[in-house]
Amino acid sequence: MGYSKDIYDDAFEELKARRNKAEYDAMIKHSELIKKLPRVQEIEESLAKTSTMAARSVFADRISVREMLEKLKTQNLALQMELKTILEKNGYQSDYLDVHYSCKECSDKGYIDGKMCLCLKKLLREKAYDKLNSVSPLSLSDFKTFSLDYYSREPIREGEKMISPYTRMEKILNFCESYAVNFTPQSRSILFQGGSGLGKTHLSLAIAKEVIDNGYGVVYASAPDILSKLESERFNDDKSTDATENLLKECDLLIIDDLGTEFLTQFTLSKIYNIINTRMLLKKPIIISTNLTLKELEKSYHQRLVSRIIGEMLRLKFIGRDIRQMQYNDTVKKG
Ligand SMILES: [Zn+2]
Repeated sequence: MGYSKDIYDDAFEELKARRNKAEYDAMIKHSELIKKLPRVQEIEESLAKTSTMAARSVFADRISVREMLEKLKTQNLALQMELKTILEKNGYQSDYLDVHYSCKECSDKGYIDGKMCLCLKKLLREKAYDKLNSVSPLSLSDFKTFSLDYYSREPIREGEKMISPYTRMEKILNFCESYAVNFTPQSRSILFQGGSGLGKTHLSLAIAKEVIDNGYGVVYASAPDILSKLESERFNDDKSTDATENLLKECDLLIIDDLGTEFLTQFTLSKIYNIINTRMLLKKPIIISTNLTLKELEKSYHQRLVSRIIGEMLRLKFIGRDIRQMQYNDTVKKG
């Protein structure tokens, strides 16, 4: 699963806080209880003593070691029984003194026998959500809120053919929904092409949300954001440069919004090429959205990159009029 390092850091931080809280709560409960029921502390001390004696008797050079251990075991059980009875008599659950972790399976450690616990997987998903939400509110960008009403049913010319924006966008919407639901880390790469305000960002975020829901690691960023992050890390000689770059290469799904709006230098050109090329070699999916035509992309980027995109990505062409403008007009009319 490929989440960014800060998402893992956040998740581990949270697990640690849960663990500390559970242990602190248990300690407080314990000290209050022994004040009320001093016999509990005596029992605990005796229990601690029997286990030290058991350890010692193992080293004793006597035939009666087994007998001794048996006796200690009986004593131990009797003490535990007494403790349980005291607690129950005073109206406490028998596990009252145990540490109550949020997750019983892994005691808030996040791993069971080296395997990631479900609670950590859930936490990572939540953190990835929070992060994406800080970019753009996901609640506003799921498939349900994508309205086809803004696309005209009037056919327009596209090359040799006539097609209405409504028909085209209905097809794209259905495709994206099924892509997201059936996503695997071997899914195809897609290029969203078309003018601004035609719903490219909305659909990329809707895909991101669904894919995260299904437990995959998604990195979503605009091309300028990715590159300014890599640039600043380079200039600050930041050790995390490789981490960011590796994450972009290795996450389950990389979504690059707005390719072509970034400021291009030799450095950014080679980075973009490198990231896209590596993912394509590894057969890892990318979704790129751009306002540029293929010709315009060719002007800005290596021809090699554009031929890779043409060769390996499924191209979806968004058509119609700027929805944001229409939504704005609607609001003005209603207001
Ligand atoms: Zn757990």
